[in-house]
Amino acid sequence: MYNSHCVLLQLCNHLWCYILKGDYLFTLNSFKKEKVLKTVKSIAVKFITFVVKVFYEACAFVKSAYAVARKKAPVVRELVVNFLKTADSMKVKILSVVMASVCCLTITVIAYAVEQKSAVQVYYGNNSYGFVRDMKVADEVCESVRKSVHGKFDIDNFKLQSVTVAENMITGHDSIVRNIIEGVDSVVSVSGLYVDSILVAVADNYIVAQDLINQGIKHYTADGFEFKGFDKVVTIRDIYVTHSFLSEKRMCWDKLIGGQYGFGFVTSRVENYDEEILFQETTKESSKYYSTYKKVTQKGKNGLRNVTAEVQYVNGVKNGAFEMESTVITPAVDKVTLVGTKLKPVYHSGYVLATKIMTNEPSEMVFPVDCNGKTYISSFWGDGRGHKGLDIAAPRGTEIYAAADGVVSYVGYRSDYGYLIIVDHPDGKTQTYYSHNSKNLVKKGETVTAGQFIAKVGASGNATGNHLHFAVAVNGTMVDPARMVGLK
Ligand SMILES: [Zn+2]
Repeated sequence: MYNSHCVLLQLCNHLWCYILKGDYLFTLNSFKKEKVLKTVKSIAVKFITFVVKVFYEACAFVKSAYAVARKKAPVVRELVVNFLKTADSMKVKILSVVMASVCCLTITVIAYAVEQKSAVQVYYGNNSYGFVRDMKVADEVCESVRKSVHGKFDIDNFKLQSVTVAENMITGHDSIVRNIIEGVDSVVSVSGLYVDSILVAVADNYIVAQDLINQGIKHYTADGFEFKGFDKVVTIRDIYVTHSFLSEKRMCWDKLIGGQYGFGFVTSRVENYDEEILFQETTKESSKYYSTYKKVTQKGKNGLRNVTAEVQYVNGVKNGAFEMESTVITPAVDKVTLVGTKLKPVYHSGYVLATKIMTNEPSEMVFPVDCNGKTYISSFWGDGRGHKGLDIAAPRGTEIYAAADGVVSYVGYRSDYGYLIIVDHPDGKTQTYYSHNSKNLVKKGETVTAGQFIAKVGASGNATGNHLHFAVAVNGTMVDPARMVGLK
């Protein structure tokens, strides 16, 4: 490259020396001649310097142009020298010198211009950070810088200017972004604390951040605790932030220990303690009772056991335990509830619409007649004529059931009751009466269970229609059975 520009320099020098010999200035007086020579010489030096400089730069950037220039320069020089040797008139000499100079300049300028590229110069504030290929790249650079810097980065300070520069001055996206981030005063390189990929705090550098975390671990592992890790993914990464972001988000002890950064220090230790065993609740189903029936037959009671466990803590707060060994001191007693499964009777229309007076209370007894859609209550207790029972009207032959468990104490016929069954119940004081039956199906002394089919509905004895006269006696006195079978 140096050779090439020397060749050009020599060429130009040669031309200018030829001019400056002054042969063609002989008509001027010596003073004027001196002055003109001085001026011309000064202009010449400036011009040559410019030409050489421009060419030098061009050559520096353009290998191909350099090769061309190197190849062509001696040829041009030869041509010019030969031409000048043979030229005789002064005008021709001057013209040739001018033409040669113009040629030199043109070649130089063309060589230079050919290798120039339009580009965009990127400024932040008053500082230039380099050149990129076009506005699109320049915009991407600004965007990348903005994204790379945490905090309010003033993008209004970007200035983009279209320029023409040598190709090798144009830099890539990444390097200019790095130049800006590292060069701008308001941006600082720090260490960011990330929790599950979210930036939660910033420390001046990695050592400061790591040291704070180590102190946190030390804080939570006093008193025989073992450090197990964090409950989230915690990482420290090098990032760029603005100064104001740094002071705003600076990692601090209180927040770290208080869990305000969204993660906790997980520790554990082996502990031994007594623990209550909670009783279980179980239900036992019985088809003897209506589905609304519910009775606790066994009360639940908590037990006690001794446990050895690895107890886990997060930021010093108990968070769970991994049981290693346990001994039952007192076992728990299950709570047992007896639940009826028998569907409640649905009544047809009648003297009283029994559906309207069905209660949701659990009934002690099973409703004693099959509810086949034609069953209804034709008379309640009292009923204005001292009625001592419940009349349940149903077609002849409808099934009659034992209202509760018991033993049959009477089976027979009486003139008023007609065909009658009396069942004695295990409490020793309650008896149930089933009368006006068309047929009795059990024998005296027979054990019956609640819901057992014991007779058929009829109108025997003193009855005006098919119905069951159902009565309950407690210690020999008749009582209202309605509520006992789930009515009212
Ligand atoms: Zn009756």
